[in-house]
Amino acid sequence: MCGIVGYIGHREAYPIIINGLKRLEYRGYDSAGLVLSTEQGFQLAKTRGKVVDLEEKSSDLDKTPNIGIGHTRWATHGVPNDVNSHPHLSNNGRLVLVHNGIIENYESIKKLLTDKGYVFHSDTDTEVLVNFIQLFQEEQNLSLAEAVRVALNEVIGAYAIAVLDNQDPETVVVGRLGSPLAIGIGDNEFFVASDASPFIEFTKDAVYLEDGDMATIRLGEKVDVRTIQNNEPVSLDIQELQLNIEAIEKGGFEHFMLKEIYEQPRSIRDTMRGRLLVDEGIIKMAGIWDHQEKFLNAKRIIIVACGTSYHAGLVAEYMIEDFARIPVEVEYASEFRYRNPIIKKSDVVIAISQSGETADTLAALKLAKEKGAFIFGINNVVGSSIARITDAGAYTHAGPEIGVASTKAFTAQLTILALIALKLGKHNGQLSAAQFNLLTNELERIPDLVQQILENCEGVVDKIAEKYKDNSNAIYLGRGYNYPSALEGALKLKEISYIHAEGYPAAEMKHGPIALLDENMPVIVIATKKGYYEKVVSNIQEIKSRSAKVIAIVNEGDEQVSAMADDVIVIPETAEEFSPILTAIPLQLLSYWIAVKLDKNVDQPRNLAKSVTVE
Ligand code: GLU
Repeated sequence: MCGIVGYIGHREAYPIIINGLKRLEYRGYDSAGLVLSTEQGFQLAKTRGKVVDLEEKSSDLDKTPNIGIGHTRWATHGVPNDVNSHPHLSNNGRLVLVHNGIIENYESIKKLLTDKGYVFHSDTDTEVLVNFIQLFQEEQNLSLAEAVRVALNEVIGAYAIAVLDNQDPETVVVGRLGSPLAIGIGDNEFFVASDASPFIEFTKDAVYLEDGDMATIRLGEKVDVRTIQNNEPVSLDIQELQLNIEAIEKGGFEHFMLKEIYEQPRSIRDTMRGRLLVDEGIIKMAGIWDHQEKFLNAKRIIIVACGTSYHAGLVAEYMIEDFARIPVEVEYASEFRYRNPIIKKSDVVIAISQSGETADTLAALKLAKEKGAFIFGINNVVGSSIARITDAGAYTHAGPEIGVASTKAFTAQLTILALIALKLGKHNGQLSAAQFNLLTNELERIPDLVQQILENCEGVVDKIAEKYKDNSNAIYLGRGYNYPSALEGALKLKEISYIHAEGYPAAEMKHGPIALLDENMPVIVIATKKGYYEKVVSNIQEIKSRSAKVIAIVNEGDEQVSAMADDVIVIPETAEEFSPILTAIPLQLLSYWIAVKLDKNVDQPRNLAKSVTVE
């Protein structure tokens, strides 16, 4: 994972690259670097740290050049330090390259190059690639584009790259396999980036490079896209971007994460808009409707996902089995792809991924497709790799999610999964008209209830966070629909506050985790009215008997749990099936406030990156 930005045109490249890297910093942020192409050669600056550190490091650069490329890194090969940062130069100093991904066969290529006298300064796979290109350029006297193409044909792994050649300074060559790359096309100027956010204020016209394609971008010429394998020309598919600049800025909030938490009434509503038509008694989803025989005849639905999306998948398992009575399995994509799973033609495989680029999920889908299953994608980024390889899909309309810890994308995923489950249940006759009506009416209320929760939590959750911020562990418990919520709550806390937290089904506590309980262990318990409330009450008794502290999420009017708990967060009642959308909100806020009070980098937690485009 990492972010790539490039510019070639009539403006100064430097500010475009720096601002672009800041927008892409969510993708990786352990190092940053850039190179500007001048008549005298390359001017390069790179450093361990953030883009602001790079700005400092670049103070002596001549900022006038109109061509350059930049990178923000999420290290895979070699620790984050100045030398391992990108861009990387070739031994002869002629080529410079930025790379997102992993060159899996870098060791054998490195050996070949070392035997030929090449020297390596960094531990990265990327430096191997740039020298490999040099080798072909020199030995076979090839143009930059041709040398890149020949080298990439020998490479195993995943990449999005941008390369400059100081002997051909008005050209940028890019290519991709497995990592995303967009080209923005302006008026005799071009932008290159891992997503469109770095160039949104300059042009709305973008080309998303397909896997296995490369492009030569030259001033005054049309972008020349070709297949890496055969050098066959590919026609330019220019798309109009829907993104707007406000969506990728903080809008007065201190952190993107908080902004995104507060955006949820809107993002959930947007995800339902045009789909949930309560008055007409229908759910409109072309991706399902156009393939209804696949879904309604499915013997099984398999959901593949990672991280937070996996938790959304677990909730979907409960919903689809409840509403439509179709058996569902949920798997970590990384396990599924390597464990020789049984996949049948009668299976529907649903992949959930915010970015639509998650490498493991993408690979799991490809496997399912090979085995003949119908594959369906749920993601938040239009035109993403998953959206392009699936047979059908549905976008969550959460808008760009910049905070690394997912919030609004999660609740949008739950919303779309609820719509799918309801639609399937209606059409296969498992839900009566009355049940469907009741549930859709309830789902329609959810955005208002989320708004209410956000208001109720003001001044409550931050105080609870203050009380518990210094604990080094936490346990999250929930049952039924809110067991996945407990997992997600614990994940949020780990991700941004670095406090060790575990989620369990509440009843599992006595099979092990109860041994951890003492007065230093806060236990966050989800105790919604319709969710096996009496059972959860007993679980809380067991916790209190071990002197642990209980923070309970309860419904309005709750008395029993509220009387036992040390702290209480009150949320409105809804159908239990949709309650994970509501319980997510206070759990997100709790993690947010704990991280803020511990002075952690909420939007860019250590070691993480937003879109996991490597295995
Ligand atoms: N594998 C490269 C490195 O470790 C690129 C990682 C990235 O995508 O940021 O430098």
